Amino acid sequence: MPTILLIEDEEKLARFIELELKHEGYDVMKEFDGRLGLTRAEENDVDLILLDIMLPSLNGLEVLRRLRKSKNTPVIMLTARDAVMDKVTGLDMGADDYMTKPFSIEELLARIRAALRKGAVKEEEHDSLLCCEDLEMDVKRHAVRRNRKSITLTGREFTLLQCFLENQTLVLSREQLLEKVWGYDYVGETNIVDVYIRYLRSKVDDGYSIKLLHTVRGVGYTLCRKDQQS
Ligand code: CA
Repeated sequence: MPTILLIEDEEKLARFIELELKHEGYDVMKEFDGRLGLTRAEENDVDLILLDIMLPSLNGLEVLRRLRKSKNTPVIMLTARDAVMDKVTGLDMGADDYMTKPFSIEELLARIRAALRKGAVKEEEHDSLLCCEDLEMDVKRHAVRRNRKSITLTGREFTLLQCFLENQTLVLSREQLLEKVWGYDYVGETNIVDVYIRYLRSKVDDGYSIKLLHTVRGVGYTLCRKDQQS
């Protein structure tokens, strides 16, 4: 079950939320103080944080600001009634949602489920993104961009580039590329690889001072910044 970190200094409220969360099966960590809460969040693998704003030692917005430097953990802010500015600031600073006190526990549980789902989707999307320098590939959306300009690739070119992006800085031989991109049963010339590398280069590297696709003479090809090549 997911672990939820609750940072809330009102002890009665914190204990109540903790019991409800445990009842739902979540693992719960609890801190009453902003600074200690931040340390807890940074040092543990937490799935979601419930973060009060008015906290001793470090307020919730400051906890959030510092946390976002290193972590994308979903955060639901717990705000006092009518503190509109806090909500806006919290969302601007990367909170995923907020609850205004007093709130019903059912609503809080629903928001928690939604934030955890959203967090899981974000993580999945992140997995489908590949990049090298300013070249980006979104595998799921079948989209490629360099320097934020979109590049149109054929299916084969796309698979070939994906293969390079997944094996960055490794030198791939023509045979390896043939196997990975065209399949074992490909019958034809191995220079098909060179032909496609040429297509790919013209789309990915032409017009850019930093070249990403390199020929390693007598061995094969590699994708990296030139200065990374050994
Ligand atoms: Ca408080």
